[in-house]
Amino acid sequence: MIIDLRSDTVTKPTKGMLDAMLSAEVGDDVYKEDPSINALEKRLAKMFGVDEALFFPTGSMANQAALKLHTNPGEQVICDKYAHIYNYEGGGASFNSGISCKLIDGHRGMFTAKQAEEAINPPDFYHSPLTSLIAIENTTNKGGGACWDFDELKRIREVANKHNLGYHLDGARLWNAFIAKNENPKQYGELFDTISVCLSKGLGCPVGSVLLGKKELMKGALRVRKILGGGMRQVGYLAAAGLYALDNHIERLNEDHKKAKEIGDVLSKLSFIKTVEPIETNIVIFELNNNINEIDFLNQLKEKNILIIGMGSNKLRMVTHLDYDNNKHEILLDILNKL
Ligand SMILES: *Cc1c(COP(=O)(O)O)cnc(C)c1O
Repeated sequence: MIIDLRSDTVTKPTKGMLDAMLSAEVGDDVYKEDPSINALEKRLAKMFGVDEALFFPTGSMANQAALKLHTNPGEQVICDKYAHIYNYEGGGASFNSGISCKLIDGHRGMFTAKQAEEAINPPDFYHSPLTSLIAIENTTNKGGGACWDFDELKRIREVANKHNLGYHLDGARLWNAFIAKNENPKQYGELFDTISVCLSKGLGCPVGSVLLGKKELMKGALRVRKILGGGMRQVGYLAAAGLYALDNHIERLNEDHKKAKEIGDVLSKLSFIKTVEPIETNIVIFELNNNINEIDFLNQLKEKNILIIGMGSNKLRMVTHLDYDNNKHEILLDILNKL
């Protein structure tokens, strides 16, 4: 048995989800005739209280489409130095939208409204790129699953309004923030111009993200998705997985969070571990003492059938998820305690 904690993307559809997929009603979504996709998009739009929702095969494509909808070539997006759109989307911001990123040196992937405002280039200073968008991530991936303070997000909204900037939320793990902070989709739908949410991370779907937003912006989304190669046909099989996940896999994220905290407690007692970052959701990031070699440590765990990932500079990451059950959890804690 392998205990795979590399990411919450390694989950496989449950029996219930597969049954829902097999009985999905489908049609050609390029003609907007797939009833299951239409139902999923409608449900998410309603859930977040926004005008429009559009299904995407991946979170990266949903984010990339959002960047394109908010910007023109040559312009600039403000984001944290840890941002997924900057670090992990293959340079898509420049490739697809011809824009640059102004990086904020934040804390655990989060920054303040003051930092955001200071990062804006003066619009009449034509030597520098025109700032047109602020993008944030909740929870933060590279920041270790940290959750934003909602009041700070509101203050950033005010900055965006004052300077006439768009405001995008990369919500790949927004569900985890809802559960950890007892927040709800409507408060986010109200605050942001566009939001991407992922169905295949904590929620356990094989594929799928959804971009949500206001009508004025989203009217171009279908064309942008098509240009990015994201026109899909009988994709309702995937929508059925999404609908099933919304019904069955949100509340249970609590369990992932609890397990992550318990892993953190054990790790923090191990003498060769320097620090464990605060654990708010399902991501555990910890740093080994300088005299411990990261690759050796990863291999040592691998020999015990435990997979985790290195994040560079002696930092390692574990992510709990739907397929990491109580049995695996007990085995893992036992092995860690004996290291
Ligand atoms: C996983 C992730 C995405 C999207 O990733 P895909 O693999 O393209 O679905 C976007 N943002 C964050 C913060 C993520 O963790």
